[in-house]
Amino acid sequence: MFSYRHAFHAGNHADVLKHTVLINILDYLLEKEAALTVVDTHAGAGLYRLDGDYAGTSGEAAEGILRLVDASPSPATTSTTPATASAPEVPAALARYLEVIRDFNPQGGARIYPGSPFIIQHLLRDHDRLKLFELHPTDARTLDANIAQLEAGRQIAILLEDGFTSVVKFLPPPSRRALMLCDPSYEIKTDYARVLDLMAEALKRFATGTYAVWYPIIPRPESHDLPRRLKTMTVKAGRSWLQATLTVKSSKIVTDESGATHRPGLPASGMFVINPPFTLKAQLAAALPVMAKQLAQDRNATFSLDGPG
Ligand code: SAM
Repeated sequence: MFSYRHAFHAGNHADVLKHTVLINILDYLLEKEAALTVVDTHAGAGLYRLDGDYAGTSGEAAEGILRLVDASPSPATTSTTPATASAPEVPAALARYLEVIRDFNPQGGARIYPGSPFIIQHLLRDHDRLKLFELHPTDARTLDANIAQLEAGRQIAILLEDGFTSVVKFLPPPSRRALMLCDPSYEIKTDYARVLDLMAEALKRFATGTYAVWYPIIPRPESHDLPRRLKTMTVKAGRSWLQATLTVKSSKIVTDESGATHRPGLPASGMFVINPPFTLKAQLAAALPVMAKQLAQDRNATFSLDGPG
């Protein structure tokens, strides 16, 4: 069975990138009244305590969301209000992400970190639908208990099924409007090929859906092939795409004075979006430089943004 538990990683730089993009896409899709179906292929536990044992042990949130929260000015200061010398302007996409995190932490700070299921549910309207897939028995149980507190009834379905294969039964949804977040842990090498198979099938069944794939950028050929192959597939299907990456440090293995070697941990990740909102690129063009600056762990921190238009 899997050893990956998202609780160790909640609120890290990869979550910051992924959830900022997710919120931006949702805000756009929810401007239209017609019902939206959101499918989260790899849901995780849904809600995390950043002061709990898991997140506390890894400390990843301290170099992710907590840096942004500490640096963020009062809610009133966003890109729509003038910046002051002490409170630099926060790009709209990042300000919106921080606003959502704040909704879960009304006392301030970020003790609670919402995973994708809670972020999505928080934004959906009553007539929208959310399908959550989670295979890890412990995380699925926690997700179930967390979601039960929302009393969301028929709006949310939790499925203890394989998120790579079972999800396509929801495509196309009755309202023919859907967003799929595909966020595997990639702890098994075959996850990369399974993402490609899923996206190929999804595009065949419902070419106009919006698909957001998160992937790690690590020294492994599959990780570099994945976005390239997603792009080829998307262009061949005649659909638009967007690729955003965020790097916070070098991927080089470090050797200390004693000769011991240390892997750097996840240095970078990306989001590949098929049929993105036309507004997303400009929003990320403003947000990514700020993310790269604020989440930098060494001088290799950078970002990229690519896609037609
Ligand atoms: N999307 C979540 C978020 O943003 O808060 C984080 C998800 S985490 C990166 C990946 C999750 O996928 C883990 O909880 C893992 O147990 C689960 N998982 C792994 N393989 C799966 C599969 N084939 N189907 C469904 N869930 C799976």
